[in-house]
Amino acid sequence: MPRINDNYLKLKAGYLFPEIGRRVREFRSENPDAPIIKLGIGDVTEPLPQACIDAMHAAVDEMSQRETFRGYMDDSQGHDWLREAIVKNDYEARGCQVSASEIFVSDGSKCDTANILDILAAGKNRIAVTDPVYPVYVDTNVMAGNTGEAKESGGYDGVVYLPVTAENNFTPALPDKPVDVIYLCYPNNPTGTVLGKDELAKWVEYARQNEALILYDAAYEAYITDPEIPHSIYEIDGARDVAIEFRSFSKNAGFTGVRCALTVIPDSVTGTIATGEKRPLQPLWARRHNTKFNGVSYITQRGVEAVYSEAGKQQVADLIAFYLENARLLREGLEAVGITVFGGVNAPYIWLKTPGDLSSWDFFDRLLTSGHLVGTPGSGFGTAGEGYFRLSAFNSRENIEEAVKRFQRVVE
Ligand SMILES: *Cc1c(COP(=O)(O)O)cnc(C)c1O
Repeated sequence: MPRINDNYLKLKAGYLFPEIGRRVREFRSENPDAPIIKLGIGDVTEPLPQACIDAMHAAVDEMSQRETFRGYMDDSQGHDWLREAIVKNDYEARGCQVSASEIFVSDGSKCDTANILDILAAGKNRIAVTDPVYPVYVDTNVMAGNTGEAKESGGYDGVVYLPVTAENNFTPALPDKPVDVIYLCYPNNPTGTVLGKDELAKWVEYARQNEALILYDAAYEAYITDPEIPHSIYEIDGARDVAIEFRSFSKNAGFTGVRCALTVIPDSVTGTIATGEKRPLQPLWARRHNTKFNGVSYITQRGVEAVYSEAGKQQVADLIAFYLENARLLREGLEAVGITVFGGVNAPYIWLKTPGDLSSWDFFDRLLTSGHLVGTPGSGFGTAGEGYFRLSAFNSRENIEEAVKRFQRVVE
């Protein structure tokens, strides 16, 4: 008999999105004609940039000729021309010291933020996450055995939760006990808030002093409009010794269905082995990548390369501007009826305080039944999300405008 990984049994049943689905289905069965608008799931809605489409078409044509056909890559880390374009545009342009050999192209940040645990000792690292948080960070640590059991009050034993709420201006406090690995996601999903350079510098300093590793998820960096907000953790001095950065083409170029992302592991990031000696992490990740992964498809990599062309840059900027205008309409429409709103300026998410101190789920029910609107209860992202609610700006303009009107009717 195969012996299973018991850690999986600690996982709380996937509660949030299945429960949303259940409530929506129930409402729909009683109200089959209700024109429901979904502002819940964080998935893009607009088509791919034309530059990417053209590049992928051309790559398909190359694959159709023996002379230009491509099979396995020599190195699953990604084609040199793509990694060099990433270095030049995403890092050199912002004064960050990152080289092509430190970039690993992959099929998604969700899997990268999960798989990174492969190179860390299972059960030997104390993890810190913000609360609320992107659930992938926590669940993958449960699977890896880095946590205790689920707590009655929410969350897992052994995890250090760092609350981010209106009371601390969505700025997490440094951990009050030693931690080994810290997940930071900025611009943040779900709160839509950002971390300024000085705040981020505190985390880098903390990690250097305490020999902790920062896993920095910058999936939404393209949404930053404020010139003072760092796009990369490597804009902070000293971060190259303590931080791994994750980026994705899902939310900037709309690649959620195409799949492409990247991870940066500077050669100066280290961890300890059993004897306490330090070793660099990058060779381990390179080994993992080449052993368990055969690279992102050639067609996709050509599509991503086009994100960095002049036309591609403009088209991506237009997409981002479109979603941010949606976010502005949501934010201002909600504020007009007295709702307290966070985020939505440097991120495609609006994080609102539920009116009248309603619980997140009570507000969900009210929006669904009275406005035929679906959002995401804040409590689903963590205990400290109770009393908050997430709306996504990923939608058509028409739906956003209609949603604002309905929202105002429900709340007024
Ligand atoms: C959408 C998202 C990602 C990107 O995931 P992919 O697997 O690259 O599509 C990463 N982190 C967060 C927090 C996200 O919301």
